[in-house]
Amino acid sequence: MFYFDPLYFLFALPPMLLGLWAQSRVKSAFKKYSQVTLSNRISGERAARLILDRSGLDHVGVERSRGMMSDHYDPLKRKLRLSEQVYELPSIASVGVAAHEAGHALQHAQGYFPLQVRSAMVPVVQFGSSLGPIMFMIGLFIAGSFGTMLSWVGIGLFGAVALFALVTLPVEFDASRRAKQVLVAEGIVDERELQGVDAVLDAAALTYVAAAAQAIMQLLYFVMVARRR
Ligand SMILES: [Zn+2]
Repeated sequence: MFYFDPLYFLFALPPMLLGLWAQSRVKSAFKKYSQVTLSNRISGERAARLILDRSGLDHVGVERSRGMMSDHYDPLKRKLRLSEQVYELPSIASVGVAAHEAGHALQHAQGYFPLQVRSAMVPVVQFGSSLGPIMFMIGLFIAGSFGTMLSWVGIGLFGAVALFALVTLPVEFDASRRAKQVLVAEGIVDERELQGVDAVLDAAALTYVAAAAQAIMQLLYFVMVARRR
């Protein structure tokens, strides 16, 4: 099994450490800037509502969702779901996250190409992330060309997962860029408060970079093992 291959750790460990570091940075930045109240006391919900309305998206709803950091934009229902803290608090962290999610709604409305690619890939990724590695491993245990073929199909499926993680990067960076632009343009945050928004959103972006690095390194490892066979 490849889990006992020391080389696997060489591939998997650095991106995993990067991921853990990024997650701890998100938590600490979010915690820090959740405690800093905005000078104009606008809540995450109001900030999101304002951004959506100004962009002609008054049909996109803003709802409360359960769970910490459960904030997301639902493209099917055209709704923004914000976690309680983000929804309610007038903090720098709240408006940063709310504006980022509103940024995804703007991307959707404008047909932002990387978002379209990403959405189209979701069904493949859903079974590729579990089935890909399983097929790859089963293929290694089956002798002959059928086993080899199975491994490479597994690698192909997992390749889609890695590609998905890569396409996610421009989508996330762009949502944050839009968020910051509107927050400043609408006067929701001032220059000093923007630095806090930056800290929260940059840390969040780093978790996506780590996830992409993890997927790519895993893919490279699979390719290497399959070729060595
Ligand atoms: Zn996002």
